[in-house]
Amino acid sequence: MVALFISELHYIIPFYVNTSKISGLLLPLKQQINLLADQCVKCGMCLPGCPTYQLSHNENESPRGRIALMQGIVNDQLALSSRVIEHLDHCLGCLGCEKICPSDVQYQILIDAIREYTQTKQSPLTAKAQAGFISLFINPTIQNGLFALLRFYQFSGFQKLLRFSGILKLIGIDKQEQLLPKLQPQLTLQPRYSSTGDSLGTVALFIGCMGKHFEQSAIQASIQVLTRLGFDVEIPEQVCCGALHQHSGFHHQAETLAKTNMQFLQNNHYTAVLFTASGCGAQLQSSLKTSPLPITSLMDFILQQIKKTPVVFNAIEQHIALHQPCSLQNTLRQADAVTAMLTKIPGLKITELQSQCCGAAGKNMLTQADLAAQIRQPLLNQIPDSITGIVSSNIGCTIHISAGCHHKIPVIHPIELVAKSLQ
Ligand code: SF4
Ligand code: SF4
Repeated sequence: MVALFISELHYIIPFYVNTSKISGLLLPLKQQINLLADQCVKCGMCLPGCPTYQLSHNENESPRGRIALMQGIVNDQLALSSRVIEHLDHCLGCLGCEKICPSDVQYQILIDAIREYTQTKQSPLTAKAQAGFISLFINPTIQNGLFALLRFYQFSGFQKLLRFSGILKLIGIDKQEQLLPKLQPQLTLQPRYSSTGDSLGTVALFIGCMGKHFEQSAIQASIQVLTRLGFDVEIPEQVCCGALHQHSGFHHQAETLAKTNMQFLQNNHYTAVLFTASGCGAQLQSSLKTSPLPITSLMDFILQQIKKTPVVFNAIEQHIALHQPCSLQNTLRQADAVTAMLTKIPGLKITELQSQCCGAAGKNMLTQADLAAQIRQPLLNQIPDSITGIVSSNIGCTIHISAGCHHKIPVIHPIELVAKSLQ
């Protein structure tokens, strides 16, 4: 009995930590971190799957090394120096480690918890300022204003002028500025779209806070495919998924956003809640564990539907490179659905890029642009010359990969190919 209990600890401890979070009976962070970190047996099997370790071959840049740093920090054996924080900040949250760890170490919970812990060690004013800055960035009014300015910046010729003048480099934002793809006009969405035939049900589409600015074509294609397959589509009132707050150590702010999104999930006339961006989907699934509705990736949902009601796909004679985001592969584990869907399209030649993080990692591509670009390079090296486009299911990855190709190769969401093929 005791042996059985010990052998099941790998499942029991994360379950306990998660349940204590959900029930509000939170363990102190130090105990949460120690409990989860003690699951690591320091075997090193995760090292080949860690992009930052592969780049640096520095143990402090590996999952095992970071777990040891976490243990040192919370047990007051290691000072919280800027160098230690940097090693933790470099973590991409890609979960390449969690996927291959034989001890089932819950690395995502650990890295989020240590970031929350380090936030509590900062001056409250600094932590408040950081959280406030992220909240400002996701505020819809501020966002709309900011993107209107960015469109003006691109269309007026200011972008060319500033790039040419060298000012951007002088003030140290040239690499961040180069990430900006050519912006399209902001999408105006109706709250509801009706199915083209008899309705099979209503689905809610989660587009997050950035979808309207960066994923206009993917959202339009999603509505087109879903209504064509017989679903009414609603775009409910929603706020940011909270991933930026969560992965920056601001758990409470992420929780507040989750509670707001929970309100539309209470609406039981939905068959499912679907998301286009896998990063938002991963955050929604983890923060809304008590959701009464299934929260699933758009491509997985469509794949299940066409298994029940087959449809005819028209040929698309193109060669594409397929990138599977870490959030889809390692967190949601629904990457296979994208491959399965795209292989149904006749004529489409697919080169699937090897499992490799693109380096975008939420805000890392902005705050650690050089490291993000180095992580991205092996992925770009795999892209064949003959391709006409790249496919990826996450906004951050799309932007970062597109910038890596100097925005010369279209990087699109897989749903856009499905929509084109069903036309
Ligand atoms: S594979 Fe798992 S147990 Fe082994 S060192 Fe990495 S995190 Fe620790
Ligand atoms: S989440 Fe990714 S970058 Fe971070 S330690 Fe794990 S494998 Fe390395």
